[in-house]
Amino acid sequence: MKHLQEPTFRESVDLMFNRAVALMDLEPGLEEKIRVCNATYTVRFGVRLRGKIHTFVGYRSVHSEHMEPVKGGIRYSLAVNQDEVEALAALMTYKCALVEAPFGGSKGGLCVDPRDWDDVELERITRRFAYELAKRDLIHPSQNVPAPDMGTGEREMAWIADQYRRMNTTDINARACVTGKPLNAGGIAGRVEATGRGVQYALREFFRQEEDKAAAGLTGKLDGKRVIVQGLGNVGYHAAKFLSEEDGARITGIIEHDGALYSDDGLDVDAVRAWIMKHGGVTGFPDATHTAEGAAVLEHECDILIPAALEAVINMGNADRIKAPLIIEAANGPVTAGADEVLRKKGTVIIPDMYANAGGVTVSYFEWVKNLSHIRFGRMGRRQEEARHELIVRELEKLDDHLGDAWTMSPNFKEQYLRGAGELELVRSGLDDTMRTAYQSMREVWHGRDDVTDLRTAAYLVSIDKVASSYRALGL
Ligand code: NAD
Repeated sequence: MKHLQEPTFRESVDLMFNRAVALMDLEPGLEEKIRVCNATYTVRFGVRLRGKIHTFVGYRSVHSEHMEPVKGGIRYSLAVNQDEVEALAALMTYKCALVEAPFGGSKGGLCVDPRDWDDVELERITRRFAYELAKRDLIHPSQNVPAPDMGTGEREMAWIADQYRRMNTTDINARACVTGKPLNAGGIAGRVEATGRGVQYALREFFRQEEDKAAAGLTGKLDGKRVIVQGLGNVGYHAAKFLSEEDGARITGIIEHDGALYSDDGLDVDAVRAWIMKHGGVTGFPDATHTAEGAAVLEHECDILIPAALEAVINMGNADRIKAPLIIEAANGPVTAGADEVLRKKGTVIIPDMYANAGGVTVSYFEWVKNLSHIRFGRMGRRQEEARHELIVRELEKLDDHLGDAWTMSPNFKEQYLRGAGELELVRSGLDDTMRTAYQSMREVWHGRDDVTDLRTAAYLVSIDKVASSYRALGL
């Protein structure tokens, strides 16, 4: 529960923004131009369902148009409101700038609980919402490109893309009007997992830096680190799965909407996910301890805490009891401005949302480029790359024959080296590069300036500087 005296989500984002701009020397007025949300459209529309007309409320907020199109997810939740959508749109502006995705920030939301409606009903609701947004160019390949967020996924994006195409039958770039689509409807390999994959790459980069680990009082590698994840949805599931399967991390806690599971030996992420899919929650899962007081598990001992569900879950009410030395904000806004202050004073290192969950928008950017270029990544170069590798392998085989036991090719080398990069490999490479480069830009400011003591302020400084440069170039 959010602490009573705390600011709203949007005020929280503004407070963090203000902390950063106080350290900058922006020309008069530019600070406010960057901070304010340009426009928020509210729509109320009716859909005839189950024998009566149901009215739904939706939003699309455009925070900054210093670059177009603007970009940001569409969220389905009963908690959606204007304040939240505007906060999330602002975060999108800073996120895109930080990871150099050439977009302004936007966000959308629909007040609906997807669990209340069946597939056919949800499709009708989604298509109607898409229609309302598209007719005002709030869905458009060159102006506003949504993506999945909480409560939405590939299926909703496919409906939106199809709705836009029906309204714009001659637009050759229609598919680029939304990202996060299924592969067979203009999507890109690796998009579903992208945000969780980005969290993994961010942690890998953090663990490569001795100085940064030391700031959190951590040592060694990710292998064996105890991780607690809140929210086993798209982002939390993929992050937990990759960290446990590929980096040896131990998932000791999983917090869901109906309580939490914990086990010092580590939880089987796929088994928990399968249980949630079947039973609707974690309750009753065998091989782990369950508590109905899910949020209390945020306060358990662990090395890394990954909030990947909702905003404001770490607030003035529990911040002083959080024991994790490292928090990576996979969700947007999980730590309130007040809690951020408490945790900073305690020495907790926070890898901020605008960086930590930027994997989604990064791969969305690749998908948008793919849609506009009308060709799959890797299609032109893959076989040519394989042919060149083949030349080297043939020479190595000659050497192998010639040297006998003195030298021999490692097992699997040939098949691994021969394989040219397909779309998935290229997407992962582009995402890894993006996460590493953006992390370096933040840590340079974090360690390079005496007046910057945390990664969040560093992230804001890097991104605001980029947005400011764009505005200057626009000649406002
Ligand atoms: P999702 O709907 O797939 O998953 C959310 C999960 O959180 C669900 O499993 C849900 O049951 C769980 N949950 C709900 N209430 C909870 C509670 N009170 N306690 C614990 N768990 C609870 O959503 P998602 O796409 O994974 O998004 C999660 C967060 O990540 C959001 O803040 C979103 O804005 C952010 N994000 C998502 C993406 C993306 O690509 N999907 C990209 C960037 C940021």
